Amino acid sequence: MNLRIAHVVDRTEAEGPGVRTAIWTQGCSIRCPGCCNPELFGSRGGELYAVEALLARVVDAGTEGITLLGGEPLDQPESVTALARAARGKGLSVVVFSGYRYAEVERRAPDLLAAVDVLVDGPYDAAQPEDGPRARRWVGSRNQQLHFLGTRYGLADFQGPNTVELRLRPDGVMINGWPHR
Ligand code: SF4
Repeated sequence: MNLRIAHVVDRTEAEGPGVRTAIWTQGCSIRCPGCCNPELFGSRGGELYAVEALLARVVDAGTEGITLLGGEPLDQPESVTALARAARGKGLSVVVFSGYRYAEVERRAPDLLAAVDVLVDGPYDAAQPEDGPRARRWVGSRNQQLHFLGTRYGLADFQGPNTVELRLRPDGVMINGWPHR
């Protein structure tokens, strides 16, 4: 089974709690106005990556878990479910950012949420930016909700300043993280 991905950062501290492997899926059918990743909208770009190979890469990276973001992970529900379940099977944590609401995530991928530690759901709303002293880390807009589905993480893990990371790569500079607060 393959997952179409845009890119991977093997070890990052800017895409969820702790040190994580961040995986940006390619393709998003939601297309929120003001999205910061419009280059990931198209479902034909990126690279097809075997789920087994992706899991092996994550294990090699030695991180505490994966963060799935995009693009829209739930536009590839079977592959995302397979990866999340396999990651959990290795004792890794799973954080998912989706533009779909919880109920739609559940409808699209009935077996996914049992393998997810944190789901951040809902479309990005540029009219309600997540800001101010109580802003939740890594969350784009106030309408989006955090769902803690296990005991591994809680709200305290989503507090504190956002950060940005820069990496020099053969094809240019890779920037990830959140530039706002
Ligand atoms: S769901 Fe996410 S990737 Fe898709 S348009 Fe909205 S913010 Fe962008």
